[in-house]
Amino acid sequence: MILPEPSDATRPFWDAAVQKRLLLRHCPRCGSWLHPQLLFCGCGEWRLEWREASGEARLLSHTVARRMPVPALQGEVPFTVLLVRTREGPQLVSSLPGDGHALRCGMPMRVAFDPPVEGVALVRFIPAERVGTGDGMR
Ligand SMILES: [Zn+2]
Repeated sequence: MILPEPSDATRPFWDAAVQKRLLLRHCPRCGSWLHPQLLFCGCGEWRLEWREASGEARLLSHTVARRMPVPALQGEVPFTVLLVRTREGPQLVSSLPGDGHALRCGMPMRVAFDPPVEGVALVRFIPAERVGTGDGMR
């Protein structure tokens, strides 16, 4: 497993994920919601805020990785790569272990958080219909 390495700029996002909260950037000038890694808004504002997002999203696209040239990830395949659009607007890439998730583009998704490993909790999106059923990750 390769864990993300939070930078000073993204640490609030990762700290919130440990607390099972999804933060996105928000522009106080024009009201836009932005991807967590963006440092400037398209309107020119650089004093962005962190705001808690709803955790609701729609699935835009997905694919399954079955072969992995990166040695540290070879034990992880197969896994499913997801692109979701959050209700607030920003698109996020995520993944789910394994395949066979019965995904369809446009379906409602919901944020979920892995138990922290070395202080980092991975942010996942699972089908909203599976929330609370305990089988969201598989
Ligand atoms: Zn703005």
